[in-house]
Amino acid sequence: MLSHVEVTARVALTSVAHFVWSNRLEYAHDCFVCRRVGRTVSLHPNAENGLCHSSERRLEWQDDIDVAGAHPAPIRVTGFDTAGDETSQRLRCRLAFWWSPFFDLKRPDERASELSEKRWVRLHYRVGCHVCRDAGHDDWFGPQNSVQSNQVWPVTSSCQRCDTELVTVAGPPEINLVG
Ligand SMILES: [Zn+2]
Ligand SMILES: [Zn+2]
Repeated sequence: MLSHVEVTARVALTSVAHFVWSNRLEYAHDCFVCRRVGRTVSLHPNAENGLCHSSERRLEWQDDIDVAGAHPAPIRVTGFDTAGDETSQRLRCRLAFWWSPFFDLKRPDERASELSEKRWVRLHYRVGCHVCRDAGHDDWFGPQNSVQSNQVWPVTSSCQRCDTELVTVAGPPEINLVG
């Protein structure tokens, strides 16, 4: 059956932050193609399908994804909306995927569900610092950064150059099934 999930996240910004969501994410999915629960799927709004990473590593180590074992998965981004102002930015991302029940191939006692029990998402962003921009530093717009479900909240991110506080995320992104 065809299912839909909505991922929402909100960040609070300080007055010197320049914030942009990046249009890709990783999402924990019970994948009926490889019949494994809690796989990490890479998603991009312009991609026809997701990429399921069939690595044996567990969620805690997902920063180190084994791309060699990846396969296309019938899950894709159907909506990617950002909104906000100088004080906060919101991301709402809709996913659509084909799903059917199964038991995990290697852990037969684990049953797959529409919304994975290992509910997890990682969202990416870049944030710039107006203090450093106004001081004429070329690298004022910081590197790729990310926020993911299994962090200790709240998460605060500061400028790598001048240490000015830029972003606060109060809690984990929400992940909900939608009709
Ligand atoms: Zn898979
Ligand atoms: Zn700075």
